[in-house]
Amino acid sequence: MAMTNPDFDRDHLWHPYTSITNPLPTYEVSHCQDVYIHLTTGEALIDGMSSWWSVIHGYNHPILNQALIEQSQKMSHVMFGGLTHNPAITLGQKLLAMTQEVFDQIFLADSGSVSVEAALKMALQYQQGIGQHKKTRLGALLGGYHGDTLGAMSVCDPENGMHTLFNEYLPNNHFLPRPTTKPNAPLSEEDKNNLQMFFEAFGDELAAVIVEPLVQGAGGMYFYDKSYLKALKHYCEKYGTLLIFDEIATGFGRAGELFAFIEADVIPDILCLGKALTGGYMTLAATLCSEKVSTGICQSEAGVFMHGPTYMGNPLACAVANASCDLLLESPWQAQIQRIEKQLQEALLPLAASDNVQDARVKGAIGVLEMKEAIDVASFQRQCVADGVWIRPFGKLLYIMPPYIINHEALEKLTDTMRRWT
Ligand SMILES: *Cc1c(COP(=O)(O)O)cnc(C)c1O
Repeated sequence: MAMTNPDFDRDHLWHPYTSITNPLPTYEVSHCQDVYIHLTTGEALIDGMSSWWSVIHGYNHPILNQALIEQSQKMSHVMFGGLTHNPAITLGQKLLAMTQEVFDQIFLADSGSVSVEAALKMALQYQQGIGQHKKTRLGALLGGYHGDTLGAMSVCDPENGMHTLFNEYLPNNHFLPRPTTKPNAPLSEEDKNNLQMFFEAFGDELAAVIVEPLVQGAGGMYFYDKSYLKALKHYCEKYGTLLIFDEIATGFGRAGELFAFIEADVIPDILCLGKALTGGYMTLAATLCSEKVSTGICQSEAGVFMHGPTYMGNPLACAVANASCDLLLESPWQAQIQRIEKQLQEALLPLAASDNVQDARVKGAIGVLEMKEAIDVASFQRQCVADGVWIRPFGKLLYIMPPYIINHEALEKLTDTMRRWT
């Protein structure tokens, strides 16, 4: 007899960060609509995760569906080597405009991690190109997350990340302590000293420093102030080190402004975008850089930028990204995010007083409860399904970043489930 779906899934399919011999339960989805994930068992769950930051407009959106249908009738894919197409050109123009015309060139990658790999390689090739042959290392923040491929992993938090498992293999990059400067506070003495010591020790060998600006996502849902980024930029300029902002999570309005670099008023040399870029429809990411960086790269020994994935600039992904960006810009996204932020503040911040809560914090459409103990994911998710919500905690962190279209009542159901767990 054929295996049932759940049995086949458990025995044969890898899920993110799970064991095949002792997996967490999975729930089978039949379809999704607006903010709802419908299970084959009949439950409808309000999505608190936006399927990992990406589904900002909700599921099964008629405009995004239409963009895919129309593009698929022209061409779903064509190699980007030696060929080009309107969906990619339009997306390039749109992204340069949305990022305030401060970047000049765009590399269209096929996932967030790959866009980080491209950013790191750009920085290394740039330093080669301008003759800075000692600048061969990268700097990053403790508590950061930049993806799961090997290069990206080498700049993730070395303890929470997977460094210890792959230590012998990974390059020796340098890590700054996590910023202590809280949002809206002036730069702390500690951060000031750490930055100075770090650059004095390693500045001469740093090709680039990569950070998630203002919000560290998967590495701890941690917020810090823009004054830190201003100081970091100062040191990067002083030491000829490039500054890379990874806005794969914070981009497209999630943290309050369209991009965190705009809120921080700090312009990086290289910017990574992904996740919400296609509204959660297709995998696509982008690495943007300035003319200075591109020119340096092309002076390097190779004379070209050495990267080119098979599905680079995929027309379907670009077409749906174009539609998603238009939808965002035509929507009252700022008002939606402010409304979500206010409701999250009212519902979650008072829970900081609860005995088993370490901290409660909100920024833009991101709400976080940091518990004192690690959360048992399997039993928490059973509770979620019973409540009709979908939230996936990790470690001590119970957090949500819902689709921007979520209404008051649905958001209340999400925060109620979080409150009941405290
Ligand atoms: C998710 C994420 C990545 C990795 O993107 P993938 O598409 O999962 O490869 C990199 N950086 C940040 C900040 C992310 O949130």
